[in-house]
Amino acid sequence: MHSKTLIQWALDKLAPCHCALCGLPSGRDIELCLHCEGELPWLTHSCGQCALPLAGARDAICGRCLAQPPAFDTCIAACAYTEPISSWVHRGKYRGDFPSLRVLAYLLRRALSSHEVNLPDLVIPMPLHWRRRWQRGFNQAQEIGREITRHPQFTELKLDTRLARRTRATTVQRELGLVERQRNLRGAFCITRPLEGQTVAIVDDVLTTGASANALALALKAEGAGQVDVWCCARTPLQLK
Ligand SMILES: [Zn+2]
Ligand SMILES: [Zn+2]
Repeated sequence: MHSKTLIQWALDKLAPCHCALCGLPSGRDIELCLHCEGELPWLTHSCGQCALPLAGARDAICGRCLAQPPAFDTCIAACAYTEPISSWVHRGKYRGDFPSLRVLAYLLRRALSSHEVNLPDLVIPMPLHWRRRWQRGFNQAQEIGREITRHPQFTELKLDTRLARRTRATTVQRELGLVERQRNLRGAFCITRPLEGQTVAIVDDVLTTGASANALALALKAEGAGQVDVWCCARTPLQLK
């Protein structure tokens, strides 16, 4: 056991993490150096409810949320969904590249710290239908949620991977407009127990229109959730119609 730890230590010294952006040693256990971290498209001005990037004051509410508020109460998004974030999402989600998912989890954790969020009773990953999960071999949102709740900074957080299930294999959302997305998602989630006022945070990699998060928040509130927040690594800058 001791020798194994020593070998691991030696290997880590010999092959430290390199930054995925500049290629230099990152000096820490993720593939992102501090310099490149500062250059990322951090979302500093965004809607307080749906995290849509806004030009105005931080945490103002966007026109769409004022006209038709989503079922979730707040949304924290770390970065805008542009390069290099979109590459990490693609590598993590479609190629199973876990170092990319670890970088995404780190970005979200940093955003949660800077927003000083109230910690929820439960953290749940955006569920994948079992068939898609089986094809992919993992749920990227669950891996990101696991990285965050394992971190010493958030040991009080409880990741619940069984609370919500996706009961229908919905059509691929990115090919649909917002209205079709909402129709496509009706009744798509099942909550496995009553929530009696508990607060829940949904973890996801990317928030696009927010239709999935909205449908899941509706289902959680129907089971009695007191507050539902969305935590995502990236937010698309433009709404689809
Ligand atoms: Zn770098
Ligand atoms: Zn909004």
